[in-house]
Amino acid sequence: MADLKIAKIDVFQLDLPYSGGVYYLSGGREITRFDATFVRVTTNNGIEGWGESTPFDQYIPSHGLGIRAAIAEIAPKLIGLDPRKVDRLNDAMDAVLLGNESAKSAIDVACWDVFGKSVGMPVCDLLGGRTDNPLPVISSIPVADEQGTRKKVEKYRAAGFTGFSVKIGSDPVASAIQVKAALEGQRPGEHFLIDANGGMTVESALRMLKMLPNDLDFVFEAPCATYRESISLRRRTNVPIIFDELASNETTIAQFIADDAVDGVGLKVSPTGGLTKGRRVRDMCMAAGYTMSVQDTTGSDIAFAAIVHLGQTIPARNLRCVLESREMCVGQTADGEFNVVNGVLTAPTAPGLGVTPRMDVLGEPVATYA
Ligand SMILES: [Mg+2]
Repeated sequence: MADLKIAKIDVFQLDLPYSGGVYYLSGGREITRFDATFVRVTTNNGIEGWGESTPFDQYIPSHGLGIRAAIAEIAPKLIGLDPRKVDRLNDAMDAVLLGNESAKSAIDVACWDVFGKSVGMPVCDLLGGRTDNPLPVISSIPVADEQGTRKKVEKYRAAGFTGFSVKIGSDPVASAIQVKAALEGQRPGEHFLIDANGGMTVESALRMLKMLPNDLDFVFEAPCATYRESISLRRRTNVPIIFDELASNETTIAQFIADDAVDGVGLKVSPTGGLTKGRRVRDMCMAAGYTMSVQDTTGSDIAFAAIVHLGQTIPARNLRCVLESREMCVGQTADGEFNVVNGVLTAPTAPGLGVTPRMDVLGEPVATYA
């Protein structure tokens, strides 16, 4: 298939309600719905590839309208390019707009889907080859009181999850109580990420840590909003620390490595710009010996497929978990072999991402570029 070109790019939009009603994050942030954007790339010979970008407003600097506005700038410039030459495609996108990675991500992932279908291979194999490692999924548990936290952990434990990403607020006393509640029934093989989503000062983080028993087994994720604060905290605690909001691209990862800033990284597909840039970040993290958790801001079935394919290429030693993003969103947008059994799953073997979008759910395109 020497001559493969992007002929058309369609954009779809859906509001995906948060499955738990209201999602509470540190700093009084609340969200009830996600503004999801879907991209369909169609080639000159009729291959269709799909990508999704579903931001989490108030948490990562991207939003649905901005994503679609950026796609409107970028998509017309990609018509006629070979979707399989993913690095060159990203060069072309970067030449149109700086940043806006969440917009580029949906297009990039759709091109990987096309690439896989064009050669009859799943995306994970094109990304370097699947490991034989079943991927542990992690749940996302919003800020709650002691009782609410216990209930959520129990609910996910009963559903087979062995990974828990527990969001905490900004107050050190309330957070310490919440962390103890989350961890009190920890079983062998369960892992906990305590995620402050950048909501703590160094002082409040240190106070919370001092209130916790020394033998609690958890990793502290995104304690502070800025890099300087995070480094300061890192120098003064023996608790493993991972960054995700701060780990947005190759440049930041290079800085982390240079500064010995972290023990691991939460790699989010959309803010990183998709699978092409996600692959680069993965390789840098491998070289640094980091633990990775492959995530996204959130997202339905197509976003989850991208998470799973990238996660499937990371050896078990370096892979902490993948985020079960679908669990956060109401509404199934695609079908595929992505069944979580006993808290783990493996990427499908079908060509491309292995998803079949539900057109009755996605509806008509809100924009088309050809
Ligand atoms: Mg996080």
